[in-house]
Amino acid sequence: MSGFRCPHCGKSLENVAGGVLCANGHRYDRSKWGYVNLLPPSRGKNHGDDRMMVRARRDFLNAGYYQTLADALCETVLTYANERARIFDAGCGEGYYTVAVKRALAEYHARIFGVDVSKVALEFAGRRDRTLDLAAASVYALPVCDHGCEMVMSVFSPLAPEEFRRVLIPGGTFVEVYPLENHLFGLKRAIYDEPYRNEVKPDMLEGFALLEKREVRYTMTVTGADIGNLLRMTPYWYKTSKEGQQKADMLTTLETEAEFGIAVYRAIPDAGKGGSSDVLSGV
Ligand SMILES: [Zn+2]
Repeated sequence: MSGFRCPHCGKSLENVAGGVLCANGHRYDRSKWGYVNLLPPSRGKNHGDDRMMVRARRDFLNAGYYQTLADALCETVLTYANERARIFDAGCGEGYYTVAVKRALAEYHARIFGVDVSKVALEFAGRRDRTLDLAAASVYALPVCDHGCEMVMSVFSPLAPEEFRRVLIPGGTFVEVYPLENHLFGLKRAIYDEPYRNEVKPDMLEGFALLEKREVRYTMTVTGADIGNLLRMTPYWYKTSKEGQQKADMLTTLETEAEFGIAVYRAIPDAGKGGSSDVLSGV
């Protein structure tokens, strides 16, 4: 089993030579980087992060600046994932965290899948680990059967709570990583005249109950080309003036805060599903 479902008819996709195939004969080829393209034809062009952004992110992450976060994320996943969990990394990007979690789960029979809308990011994820199960798809239309997995994780990616609940088993776990108020404030101080703090999202998600929240905070000293990579891998790059971009490229060291929240949610099963008339009577 490939773990993915056919975007055309919804049947599960089986691995066949060179791609995946559903029972209705819909076939999707595997790219040379190992991912299958399950985007609808109209979304066939490149979307999501571009090559410069993805390369910058890969180089920055490989330098280990977010290792502390990766360790904390793996610890959290191990706490909640059972032996045979199927885990979907929704918006896996170039696979840094996907691979970290995969390695952490090495002793388990668990399986991790990566989904991203950017084919460039998936190419880099495939380069990182050729054995990853990867698909090009939107997090808003995951190529996963209803209640087809035990855990969804999202690291700095758009949230689709309704879709995550559809693919999770009742009571399944959702793990989210997001930036806290002062994340990268040092970088913003260096390039903006009026740096601003991040707006932190509330710890609530419709249809989910918060189980745990932890915060990872530290200061990092970024040096050399990693400073430019840090700026290029974030949306700040496109919001920064030419002058600001040049300022960043001229820095030799940068001290900045790294602040992350890791929230763990449980999908609340649908209340009264199938017997709604009884539940609603007398309201
Ligand atoms: Zn099909």
